[in-house]
Amino acid sequence: MFTSEIKNTHNEDISILVKANNHPWNYLCECGDASNLTIKEIQNCNAIFISHTHIDHFVNFDAVIRHQIGIQRRVIICGPENIGKQVQSRIQSYSWNLINEESITYEIREMISDTEIITYELTPPLWELKKINTYNSAILFEESDFIVTGVLLNHKIPSLAYQFTEKDTVKINLTSGNFNGGPWIKELKKAFISGKNDSIITINKEEYKAEDLFYLLNIQKGDSLGIIMDHAPSVENHQKIKEHFYGCNTVLIESFYKNEDQYFAILNYHSFAKMSGTIMKESAVKHPIPVHFSRKYSEEDIKKLTHEFFEAYHS
Ligand SMILES: [Zn+2]
Ligand SMILES: [Zn+2]
Repeated sequence: MFTSEIKNTHNEDISILVKANNHPWNYLCECGDASNLTIKEIQNCNAIFISHTHIDHFVNFDAVIRHQIGIQRRVIICGPENIGKQVQSRIQSYSWNLINEESITYEIREMISDTEIITYELTPPLWELKKINTYNSAILFEESDFIVTGVLLNHKIPSLAYQFTEKDTVKINLTSGNFNGGPWIKELKKAFISGKNDSIITINKEEYKAEDLFYLLNIQKGDSLGIIMDHAPSVENHQKIKEHFYGCNTVLIESFYKNEDQYFAILNYHSFAKMSGTIMKESAVKHPIPVHFSRKYSEEDIKKLTHEFFEAYHS
C-alpha cells in the first residue's frame, strides 16, 4: 500500500512524498518549495520523480542536492526529455572541489516518448552527463514490490505523469482446507506464480499435485497511486489519462484553477476544478485528490475549488 503526503503549505509550490508499506525508502514527486519536507526525508529518498521543470516544480532541487551530497549511494531522477541536462546545469552552478566521486551518483531516466527511455549518470566532482543506455519501455522504475510507469501529457511542454503500481501478491487461506502451515506454502505459491501446475507439493509426507491445491490461494490486487501534474484540459490528454490511470485507487491531480478562472487554465495549458474532477470520474479513480493550486487563491478559494472538483467527480 502507498501513502502520499503533501509537503507544501497552500501558498507554497508542489511537493509530494510517497512511501510504500514495508519498504525502507521515500520517493519524492516534484521539487517545489515545501517547508514541511525534512532533511531526513530528502536523505532517505531512493528516487525523485519530476513532471516538468517549470520553476514551481524544480526550485527546491538545490535543497535536495544540499542534503543528499555525501549519502554515498545511487539516487534515481526521472523526468521528461532534457531533465539530465537541466539537473546537470543546476549542480554545475556550484563548486565541488572538496567532494569526491563516491559522495553520490545520480542516475537520470529521461522519458523521450511513452515507450522510450534514455538513462544517464552524473557523478561529482565534474558532473559530466554520461549516457548509459536507451531502452523501450513505459516502466521508469522498478523495485521488488512495485513499479512506476510514466505517460507524457501536453502542458505546452511535455509533463510526465506517474503511476506507482504495487505488484499483486498471492495469499493462502488455510481455513478452506485441512492443512497446517509449513514450508510447502512457499513451494505452492512458487508453482502458482510460475505456472508449474504439475509440481509436486509435499505436506506431512503426503504428495499433492500443485494445481489440486490452488483452491487454497487467492490473488490480492496491489495498490495503485497516480501523480498527474500540469496538463492542458485537452481531449488528447484526457484520453491518455483514462488509458493510463483507469481504475487507479488514488490519484493526486493538478486542479490549478477554479471553474470561474478556466479562461486562464486554457491560456496556460493547465487544468481546472471541474475538468480534473470529471476526468477522475471518467477514469473510475477511487480516491481522487485535487492538488497544486494557483498561489493567488486564499484558503477560502481553495475550499471552493475543492468543492467544484468533487461536485464534478460525484455528478
Ligand atoms: Zn507547469
Ligand atoms: Zn505547476
